[in-house]
Amino acid sequence: MAIPDVLVVGAGIYGLTTALELVRRGSRTEVVDPGPIPHPLAASTDISKVIRMEYGSDAEYMAMAEAAITGWQQWNEALGETVFHRTGVAMLTRQSMAPGGFEFESFHLLRLRNHAPERLSADEISRRFPAWKPGAFVDGFFHAEGGFAESGRVIELLFEMARREGVTFHLGEAAASLLGDGKGAAGRVRGVRTDRGTLHRAGQTVVSAGSWTPGLVPELGPAMKASGHPVFHLEPADPTRFGAHQFPTFTADVSRSGWYGFPLHPRAGVVKIANHGAGRILDPVRDARVVTEDDARGLRAFLAETFPDLEGARIAYTRRCLYCDTVDEHFWIDRHPEREGLIVAAGGSGHGFKFAPILGTLVADAVEGRPNPRLSRFRWREFDEGIVGQEAARFHG
Ligand SMILES: Cc1cc2nc3c(=O)[nH]c(=O)nc-3n(C[C@H](O)[C@H](O)[C@H](O)COP(=O)(O)OP(=O)(O)OC[C@H]3O[C@@H](n4cnc5c(N)ncnc54)[C@H](O)[C@@H]3O)c2cc1C
Repeated sequence: MAIPDVLVVGAGIYGLTTALELVRRGSRTEVVDPGPIPHPLAASTDISKVIRMEYGSDAEYMAMAEAAITGWQQWNEALGETVFHRTGVAMLTRQSMAPGGFEFESFHLLRLRNHAPERLSADEISRRFPAWKPGAFVDGFFHAEGGFAESGRVIELLFEMARREGVTFHLGEAAASLLGDGKGAAGRVRGVRTDRGTLHRAGQTVVSAGSWTPGLVPELGPAMKASGHPVFHLEPADPTRFGAHQFPTFTADVSRSGWYGFPLHPRAGVVKIANHGAGRILDPVRDARVVTEDDARGLRAFLAETFPDLEGARIAYTRRCLYCDTVDEHFWIDRHPEREGLIVAAGGSGHGFKFAPILGTLVADAVEGRPNPRLSRFRWREFDEGIVGQEAARFHG
């Protein structure tokens, strides 16, 4: 039996978009994942992810997000339902926006790129977004281009679409090790051996296993770590105050606090709030993923000083979800420098999902060795001493 051209390890957003793009380019493509899809522990599995263009003064990510947002609107057609909700994003600050700050730099780059963000004063914030504590936030902007995507639902629909278009899925088994060609650590990769002892051979192997990736490619250990971040789903006493028209997707001084959130979810009927901060380094296989009393206290303190109506809301669900964090927080999409037949696509670092509509092309170009200027930032790389995370919205405190 002919072996597939490409085997993709992992059916999160990196793996699924890659498999779909490759099969459309004519490659015989197979995917292995322990499943079910969406996998309950996968980063891509949740009710919502922020879709934003704002990356401070980083024009490269803003350009990628512009292309991705066009893609999201097309996906609402192609997937046959609204998965991207264009609620706009409110990016608000407790002090006046200042040069060098995430909101200030994002605002100015948006205008430079002919977008139309609306700057907001404390009064306008209270008038337009009454759930925010009056006077607590005094500056910032609302940008209509952006919102959230129903991430778990997107995974379900892409999975079905990939199957319809000819991708073969091997579910119920996890890749345990890479198959070499017997020439040792530098030899060509020819597929994987699974935890069931099954061998899946392929011309090329893409490891897109999210925070589990260094487990399969140990030389990436120093470059990427799994970090756990708390997520809360709240049941507001009066849900009408949290409709998207007056409570859009938001960041609350995010680069200085980490807090961000979403309007009342159209299906789940909850308000999701989470923290884009340093997180906790965890082992994706061995460590428990719990949200602690401490995390909940942090949330309550934030609610008290920001959304008084949510302070007493019931926490309906919590989750500690894992980022695949690279040292510089840029993605990792490249061929292995020594091992032929191996490509890694991971390193979402807490901000990868929004690029889903353009991810498949990026990774497929790396698999096929096609030149793509966007890939240079995601190449296989070493890190100098002292290099820190560069994602502008992230709270590094
Ligand atoms: C709390 C949280 C909030 C986030 N919020 C946002 C946001 O608002 N906006 C945004 O753009 N991004 C956000 N992100 C980041 C985004 O979710 C990720 O960058 C993206 O989902 C990563 O996708 P992935 O495919 O790399 O990994 P995952 O979605 O984790 O998928 C990995 C897949 O690999 C499989 N797998 C693992 N090990 C093996 C193995 N050995 N063999 C076979 N398969 C395996 C798993 O079962 C899983 O299906 C957030 C992430 C988290 C954790």
